Formats: sequence, C-alpha cells, structure tokens
Amino acid sequence: MKLEFLGTADSAGFPVHNCQCMVCTYHRDKGLKNLSTSVYIKVDNNVILLDAGIEDISNIFDGNDIKAVFLTHFHADHCLGLLRLRHSAQKINCFHPKDENGFSDLFKHKHSICYNEIEEFKTQTIDDISFTTIPLKHSKNTFGYLIKTKNKTIAYLTDCSGIAKNSLDFLKSQKIDLAFIDACYDERKEVGNHLNYNQASDILDELKVKEGYLMHISHTTLEYILKNKVKLKYKYVKTGDEFYLG
Ligand SMILES: [Zn+2]
Ligand SMILES: [Zn+2]
Ligand SMILES: [Zn+2]
Repeated sequence: MKLEFLGTADSAGFPVHNCQCMVCTYHRDKGLKNLSTSVYIKVDNNVILLDAGIEDISNIFDGNDIKAVFLTHFHADHCLGLLRLRHSAQKINCFHPKDENGFSDLFKHKHSICYNEIEEFKTQTIDDISFTTIPLKHSKNTFGYLIKTKNKTIAYLTDCSGIAKNSLDFLKSQKIDLAFIDACYDERKEVGNHLNYNQASDILDELKVKEGYLMHISHTTLEYILKNKVKLKYKYVKTGDEFYLG
C-alpha cells in the first residue's frame, strides 16, 4: 500500500502561462511540470483519491478501480478532474464537506458520481483505511483528513490559512506518523487563504509529527526559496513522491 503525489503545486501549477520567472523557465526548458496538489492511495489495483484536481485523472486511472474520492473542498484545483471522471463506466463514491454550490455543474449532472456530504470529525472506512474529516480554515468549507491504515497515521492538511483549536486539539491527541500541510506562500505573506512555510512548519512542530512535509507550493514561493537560499525546516513534497504505508 502506498500514497503518491500526482501534483504538489497551487492552483496555477507551473510553468505558469507565459511566466518568465526562474522556476517557470526551468520547468518549460526541461519539459517538466508541476500540477495542482493531488494524491492517491493505492491498494493492489484499487485506488482512493484525495482530491481530483488534475484534469486527466480519468486517463491516469483508466484500468484501476476507484474505491472512493475524498474531496477537501470544491475549489477548481481540487475537483476539476471530476468533470471527466463523472462519465466513468463505474459508480464512484465522492465524500466531501457541505457546500451548496459544489463546482461548475457537478451537482446538476452527477452521472456516475455519488456525492456523500460528511460532517466534521466523522470517519468513513474504505478497504480497512479510515478517513476522518478535520475542519480547516479556508475561503470555502474545507476538510483535512486524518487517515489511518493498520500501520500508519497520516494527516493530510490542504488547503488552509490556519487550524482552529478544536481541530488542532484533535490532531494533537493522535500519534501522527506522516503529515502534509499547505505552505503555498513564502515568508513575505502572512495573511491570506493559505499558510506560508514558516506558519506551516510551526503547526507541524506543534503536532509533533514523526515526518512532516509542505505542499501546495506556488512558482513565486519556489523562486523566492531558490533565490534567497532559504533553509526550510521541513521539505516540500515533489510530484511522484511515494510513501509506503505498510
Ligand atoms: Zn513563474
Ligand atoms: Zn482552495
Ligand atoms: Zn488549492
């Protein structure tokens, strides 16, 4: 069983259209790209998706059984892939926070997707892996997920500008092996809909996680880190990074 990142960037991804910054130029020249933050867990030939912001996610998992999609929230960079995935020949369960509007016409034309609204701090279990919702502070109703397999406890915490006390207390009561947290901004930005890498690192410290990583990076944040040789306490995950869950 493993967890893999298909993309680790913010909603713009990179290279950003016509951006000449150092990061976008490097990626363009090398034929590389970093798509919006998206993760899946693979058990044998089955996959469980954490967000589905990548447009061609239906092609990536053609041939795999998608056991569930756990959405953090209905921003485009987290659910764009559902526009095509909804035409799947397979019925797919999507779990998500309360959101009257959803995204685009997803709720109007559901096709193969079955939408299941879940409440705060509630647990769903799929293939012996439990997913507990953790409310996060963001510009839309947003959940992080505490994921428990037989051997590992994982906190997946995108997108957020902070974590309220009840969520933080819940997370602190857990022994977290592996945590991933939104760190979209560099240190120059302290207020917005996301965390900067210092604020994100402070939360990872507070949670006393065994292994912590940053994610949802923007091209400007990465450029700032490279230009200023910023020493980060926690590393950013990269596209293709895999974590074995036992
Ligand atoms: Zn750029
Ligand atoms: Zn968002
Ligand atoms: Zn996002």
